[in-house]
Amino acid sequence: MRITAIKAYQVDLALREGRYSWSNGNYVEVFDTTVVEVQTDAGITGWGECCPLGSAYLPAYALGVRSGLAEIAPKVIGMDPRDLMVLNRRMDAVLRGHPYVKAAIDVACWDILGKATGLPCYQLLGGREQDDIGLYRAISQIEPDAMAANVATYRAQGYTKFQLKVGADADSDIVRIRAARAVLQPSDVLVADANTGWTMHEAARVVNAVRDVDVYIEQPSPTYEECLATRRRSSLPFVLDEVIGGVGDLMRAIADGAMDIINLKISKVGGLTKARQMRDLCISAGLPMTIEDTWGGDIVTATIAHLAQSTPAEFCFSATDFNSYGTKDIAAGAPKRFNGNMRASDAPGLGITPIMEALGRPVLEV
Ligand code: MG
Repeated sequence: MRITAIKAYQVDLALREGRYSWSNGNYVEVFDTTVVEVQTDAGITGWGECCPLGSAYLPAYALGVRSGLAEIAPKVIGMDPRDLMVLNRRMDAVLRGHPYVKAAIDVACWDILGKATGLPCYQLLGGREQDDIGLYRAISQIEPDAMAANVATYRAQGYTKFQLKVGADADSDIVRIRAARAVLQPSDVLVADANTGWTMHEAARVVNAVRDVDVYIEQPSPTYEECLATRRRSSLPFVLDEVIGGVGDLMRAIADGAMDIINLKISKVGGLTKARQMRDLCISAGLPMTIEDTWGGDIVTATIAHLAQSTPAEFCFSATDFNSYGTKDIAAGAPKRFNGNMRASDAPGLGITPIMEALGRPVLEV
């Protein structure tokens, strides 16, 4: 089987809440996502999606996805899409770095492998380790009382895990954490995600002020070393996200005991092939994960679901259903949230069918 053509589509994803805000005054109102179609000479077509969280969150941005695809797509034409390690090594050889650019091609080739074998991706990724995938809800940063009200609203919809967007000033963040915890039950999970927004003294003030609260602290500061310093002075469970970009970062952090959980974002690390490698390393190290991505629509949500479905429940701390945050459907067959959970499709590959009217005309054809 050979790759014969690659197309990319650009889609704007508006938000039900209108705006998603996080640390340092950052926000996004319309997400710019890129859907990738990989065609083969076997008549099988695979699909992937990459949607950076704006341009201020990670070293990734929507135009970068598409300019990077224009660079590497011609260089994978003619390859066998089922040879995923060979494909990944080729992509890494022809474009150094920029893992997020490669993610949608990698995921589309997993979709092709599934369709070619008649198996859902979760089975190819190790098998069905859990049935219902527990989801977290990200709570956009606004005033503390309004955030607590949103936590209560989403809890009433079935979510039991909440990721509070903090990383503003320490005083208001302390109020945010206490207000949100006050509307939850003891069995609910609360994570305070600073998204690199605190300097170390601010992080110290927050972790001291909420040390009696049942809350996880996520990515307090920009660098690994700053996060590690805060981790070592706090007894609260600790999550790393932005600073874990690949296997090397993960191995160092495991060796340092730098966290209790990582957030594994599939496009950030380059797609399912590399995310699976990190997932399996985390399991071997006894480290649970939130399995997710930077953002996305139906195809990203389906991809998350397959990796999460094939992850043992005790190592799957939570996952994300990004397709419930937006107003636009871009594929049929994607997971739909029920009671704060989702499940991957049992159909071959990702189990999704793109809605071509939603994708529009290709913006790149190779
Ligand atoms: Mg995070």
